[in-house]
Parts: sequence; C-alpha cells; structure tokens
Amino acid sequence: MSSLSDQELLHFARQVILPEIDEVGQAKLKQAQVTIFGVGGLGSAAALYLAAAGVGQLTLIDHDRVETSNLQRQIAHSLESIGQSKVLSAAKRCQQLNPFVNITTINEPVDVNFNFNSINSSDLLLDCLDNTATRRLVNRFSVTQQIPLLSASAVRFEGQISLYNNDPFAPCYDCVYQPLNSARNTLENKATANDDDASSCFERGVVGPVVGVLGSMQALETIKVLTGCGTSISGKLLVFDGLHATWQTINVSKKSDCPVCNQESNIS
Ligand SMILES: [Zn+2]
Repeated sequence: MSSLSDQELLHFARQVILPEIDEVGQAKLKQAQVTIFGVGGLGSAAALYLAAAGVGQLTLIDHDRVETSNLQRQIAHSLESIGQSKVLSAAKRCQQLNPFVNITTINEPVDVNFNFNSINSSDLLLDCLDNTATRRLVNRFSVTQQIPLLSASAVRFEGQISLYNNDPFAPCYDCVYQPLNSARNTLENKATANDDDASSCFERGVVGPVVGVLGSMQALETIKVLTGCGTSISGKLLVFDGLHATWQTINVSKKSDCPVCNQESNIS
C-alpha cells in the first residue's frame, strides 16, 4: 500500500516510527484530502500541523486578507504577508514545511453561493470559522455528503472541539448548537453560550495560545480519523478552560427533531 518515497520516509521519520501510524498510516495521510474552512487562528495551527504531518492534499478556504491585528494569534501569517490573501499566505508557509503537500486555495466567502461541489471529494472538513451561520452551512454540507466535520471554536481563554462523523447515532453540529429558542439542558446551554459569532474575537478578545491549542487538537484528531488510530471524540464535546487549565468532556447526543441530520425531516 505504501506509496512513500525514500525522501518522504526520511521527512516523516519521527511519525512513521510510531506503531499507531507506521508506513501504512503515513500513506493514508498522503492520500487524504482535507478541507479547512478559515485560516485565521484555528486554521493557522491546523493547516501548519497537517501540512507538516504529510497530509497529501489541503484545500484552504478564506476570503480575508492579513491584517496587523491578526498576527497575535494567526501564526500562519507574518509581517510580510500583511495585505495579502490569507489563503495564499498560509499556503506558502505550509509548502515551506512540507514540499510534498498539494494545496488548493479558494479565496471566496462561504455563503449560500459557495460552490460546495468543488470540495465534494474531501475526506474530512475542518471548521475553523468564526461565525455560527457559516458553521451551519458547512454542517449541512457535511451531513448531505456524509463527510466528517471537525469543528472547533475559541474565545477569551476558552475553547471547544468535537467531531461530527455522520454516525447514525451521533449528533451533528446543529444537534449540539441548537438555536437559542430551543429547549436545551444546562451543559449544552453552556456550549451554545460559548459558541462565538463573527465579531467575537474583536469584541471579547482571545488569547493566542488558546486558538493554538484548539487548532492543534483539530490537527491531532484529523490524523487520528485519517489513520484510524486512537479513540474517536464523536458524541463528545471537549471544553477547554485555559484560565484554570482544565478539560471537560460533555456527552452530546443526537436530537430527534434536528432539522439537518434527522432523516425523516431530510426526506420531507
Ligand atoms: Zn443534527
């Protein structure tokens, strides 16, 4: 199965030596297509680590340009890339870490006009976005196309991450983050309250390493999904409190009335 060259085996030696990954897992990473929505703080960490880890095909989607105030946390970018598109800036850094990675950049907003067909062949979607409306669009695409979605968010000193893998008994993003007028239990209320919106970093602030922690977790969980090692975080919401250095694991369940993943409502 291995389609790795001697150069690649040398490049990824510290990872290939792990029995959980081995040459077989490294070859799976090389064959994988991962699409990253947003190359801000979360996407910077995720894209750099996934490129470095040897994922073969990365698609980076973002319509923003690099600004000075991004550099405090969006470490894929640099002073020299201010004013450039974030996808090109991040692609350059990824390529510097791994000359074998193929990168596609999409410098467009993700809204109802976005051409999701162009990313139909993705093996995994990473939600590194900063607003709920776009997250819901991406979730709908994930459910419709049955492509797993790794979603994370970060604000202030806090962050959250979960995997929505389209298991028939596991929740989708919309099951967990239901609109505010829906009935929810206390823990999910907390989860929703911590979900951000488009201006969250601007209005509420965020500590750079917190987006690094969550973006790195997205990269780690991506490697696990693609190689099949370890325990899945599907059905679990991991909540990070950076101020008090704690992780909390909340079990999250599928909602029978979810308008996105409930099969009966999808048919109607
Ligand atoms: Zn759902």
